[in-house]
Amino acid sequence: MLAKLAYAVGKDPAHATDRDWFVATALAVRDCAIDHWTASKARNQAAQKQVCYLSLEFLIGRLLFDILNNLRLTESAREALAGLGIDLDNLRAIEPDAALGNGGLGRLAACFMESMASLQVPAYGYGIRYEHGLFRQVIMDGRQHEVPEDWLAYTNPWEFERSDVIYPVGFGGTVEDIQANGSPVAVWRPAETVQAVAYDTPVVGWRGRHVNSLRLWSARAAEPLRLDAFNSGDHIGALADRARLEAISRVLYPGDASEAGRELRLRQEFFFTSASLQDLLARHLRLHGDLRSLPDWAALQLNDTHPSIAVAELMRLLVDEHSLPWEEAWTITTGTLNYTNHTLMPEALERWPVSLMERLLPRHLQIIYRINWQHLEPLVYRSADNEFIKSVSIIDEGSGRYVRMGHLAFIGAHKVNGVSALHTSLMRQTVFKDLHALYPARIVNKTNGITFRRWLHQANPGLTRLLVGELGDGVLDDPEVLIQLDRLADDAAFQNLFRNQRAASKANLVKVIAERTGVLVDPGALFDVHIKRIHEYKRQLLNILETVALYDAIRAEPERDWVPRGKIFAGKAAASYHRAKLIIKLANDVAKVVNADPVVAGRLKVVFLPNYNVSLAETIIPAADLSEQISTAGMEASGTGNMKLALNGALTIGTLDGANIEIRECVGSENIFIFGLTAGEIEARRQVGMNQCRVDVSPRLERALGLIGSGAFSPDEPHRFESLVHAVRSDDPLMVAADFDSYWTAQRGVDALWANPFAWWRASVLNTARVGWFSSDRTIREYADGIWKLPV
Ligand SMILES: *Cc1c(COP(=O)(O)O)cnc(C)c1O
Repeated sequence: MLAKLAYAVGKDPAHATDRDWFVATALAVRDCAIDHWTASKARNQAAQKQVCYLSLEFLIGRLLFDILNNLRLTESAREALAGLGIDLDNLRAIEPDAALGNGGLGRLAACFMESMASLQVPAYGYGIRYEHGLFRQVIMDGRQHEVPEDWLAYTNPWEFERSDVIYPVGFGGTVEDIQANGSPVAVWRPAETVQAVAYDTPVVGWRGRHVNSLRLWSARAAEPLRLDAFNSGDHIGALADRARLEAISRVLYPGDASEAGRELRLRQEFFFTSASLQDLLARHLRLHGDLRSLPDWAALQLNDTHPSIAVAELMRLLVDEHSLPWEEAWTITTGTLNYTNHTLMPEALERWPVSLMERLLPRHLQIIYRINWQHLEPLVYRSADNEFIKSVSIIDEGSGRYVRMGHLAFIGAHKVNGVSALHTSLMRQTVFKDLHALYPARIVNKTNGITFRRWLHQANPGLTRLLVGELGDGVLDDPEVLIQLDRLADDAAFQNLFRNQRAASKANLVKVIAERTGVLVDPGALFDVHIKRIHEYKRQLLNILETVALYDAIRAEPERDWVPRGKIFAGKAAASYHRAKLIIKLANDVAKVVNADPVVAGRLKVVFLPNYNVSLAETIIPAADLSEQISTAGMEASGTGNMKLALNGALTIGTLDGANIEIRECVGSENIFIFGLTAGEIEARRQVGMNQCRVDVSPRLERALGLIGSGAFSPDEPHRFESLVHAVRSDDPLMVAADFDSYWTAQRGVDALWANPFAWWRASVLNTARVGWFSSDRTIREYADGIWKLPV
């Protein structure tokens, strides 16, 4: 590390800052990874099939401890640095979070990359090297402000720029049909071309056994400068084109179903998809010489519809650039591509206006039309029902013409998967009902998972040490070993150790909360944690209403022995999502009043921790007693936050939604608090029409709504939250009123269990013991076996 400090950073210890030491340490650690990386690459080439995981988002977080832990170097690095008077944990905090994603979808991609490396699955992750990741959230006067994120401001010690790996990506222009050797060939002449430059980051697997690459593309103008314009004095104009083209990899699209900069988004999607496919084909030709064997050597996974233009682009590359016959190209394409669906919400399923597609990707639109025709022709021939044909068409002719990217991905894929059992069954019944009827074997389920290396071993080293002490080293290698904890759940001595671990994490979180918000939370309180993107369907509002109702109840009977609670919220709202931002303001306004109320006397504290990201999640999760997973049933595809929290021993309060259902199956219904309407019941209500079966707003909810609506928490602007209150009282689309009473009752069940520590800690231990199945290693094995057809 001294050598790195001197020769790579250029500092001597007397003048080195903690940042210099971080960079020196990272570079030294990276050196250790590189030998494994080289060996893995050699193995990959000779080996079997490779996976290409295409994702517009990778929510990686910090890498130092990830790599140290997987190389089993954490303790030796700690000692080496201590010998130099440096604290490794201080360096850890210096690394910026790589926040190249919005939330669960991007974090899933990061967990999958880690698991593939750990299982020695040869894989490339492909995405975009955004200069600015997800915005940094600053809370001022209770409101969210977005500050640009700048993770590359100081050098990124993990990546390698590959100046020799560059592909051109075209946009716009015209398509010309010419004759070549007597057959028609389409020639696309793009109006402009941008270069995709590769940056590789090693993804180190468990015990360093295998290292894969995360290859992120950066956009660079093909012509760096229009010298003629520059020389003739038009300095700004000469640089403008370049700035426009390079904007493609400038910022992460804020996403989460908000609307903005749509054309740039389509450019981003095509940019990274095209570069990744060109890279794949070049590598395949180098190794195997013949594109017809592509499906034998490569499996491509499309993480959501963002890269689904891959269907048309792969066809274009095979037919136009490599002169394969259409039918052969189609066999290759559908033998290689697979698609993961992440949402059933119509507003989040991508559709591109035909006019935009025609302008930006004219050749691809032609290809999509031809794919659509070969898909629909047999139906027309069979005189299928017109409504059926409309519903399975790639082109949506409803109002205006759109390309349905989900349909394109479905039709071009070998397998299509949902991400939890419920989500997959709803896919078959709703969005893809008719396509499912045509291709009944295509939809499969692959319930999400999380990597335990990050979400247990690194995030909760204290608990991990305890588990290793009881179960042996094997628990680090095989999550299923956790089940042996079952026999310790009733052991009072073990419960005590388990509980001490939680107490230490809570003490740490209390400190972080005090530093960042000034609020003092009682470390003995029940830590009730609601951390995830702020979204109406995730129902932070339901939790806040319950908080207000509890506050109201405490004020009415202050002498009762209320279970002390810390309600901890964290999450970002999309910048343009006004209602979600108003919910953040409400949480903060409620916090201000409740925390200052002498009648409550600290028994209820409400905290909104700013800037939720992977690192903050790693701090909060080990300290959680209760995990809020309360989305409207049928709307959360899977959730992975639920898995992280249960693994660390938090009990879940949740609806029968997403993977909560499978968590209940694993932990047992007596160790989880389930409430609320089921997806089926909600669907039935929607069929009848909401008005017929409006639930009465209960008196308790009425009082909470009344307090919020009358300005009890916003005396400076009494009507601030009227719109939120009104939505719950009137049509209640997200079933906040409908589920409120059953949520309240479940929360009182939580209080009752907390009052019985033996029963509480038994349930907590059983949660950790029984969620081994949610390891992303299990998920990756299922993909490898059922979709990619490669041995693990
Ligand atoms: C796990 C994770 C998510 C996903 O959380 P859900 O509760 O499943 O929505 C989002 N953001 C971060 C930073 C995460 O670590």
